[in-house]
Amino acid sequence: MKTFDELLRDAEVAHGHLCAGQILGVRLAMRGLELLGIDDPHGKDRKRLITFVEIDRCATDAVAVVTGCRLGKRALKFRDWGKVAATFVDINTGKAIRIAAKESSKALARAMHPEIADKNQQQMLAYREIPNADLFTEQWVKVSLPPEELPGYKGERIVCAECGEGINFQREVRRNGRILCRACAGERYYEEIS
Ligand SMILES: [Zn+2]
Ligand SMILES: [Zn+2]
Repeated sequence: MKTFDELLRDAEVAHGHLCAGQILGVRLAMRGLELLGIDDPHGKDRKRLITFVEIDRCATDAVAVVTGCRLGKRALKFRDWGKVAATFVDINTGKAIRIAAKESSKALARAMHPEIADKNQQQMLAYREIPNADLFTEQWVKVSLPPEELPGYKGERIVCAECGEGINFQREVRRNGRILCRACAGERYYEEIS
């Protein structure tokens, strides 16, 4: 395992800047790996881990850097819940730990470093110093992962009866005897303009 400072540098490069979210995200992911006993997520343990992230902010980039879990490897799962939290699943053992940043950590940062006016600077320093127990809540959980959620799964690919686009593994919707993609079934996040 790389050191905290090495991982923080990697996170800074990947994310584009150094911020309180990077420090929080690196610590959160390191804590998750520590509790699972995974110490080489980019090497020998690289196929052991699946990570669920619950926010699309700074810390998530750092979690991806530390864990090596990526969306394109199906190892990073996004649940848009707006929480600075992540769940780390060891697919070898089935153990999973969910770690969430405590909401009180911002007030704690203010109390620790009132001399620093800039919030990001204040939190960047405090988030290095606050012990894990004051920074995070930790909870052992169970995560059910069907085969199609695992990185190496290869399954049938089918075609939407409406738009003709191909769909991977059980993301299709069956409606009135037709097989549709989610967009054609009404879940479109975009509107077509002609
Ligand atoms: Zn940031
Ligand atoms: Zn379709």
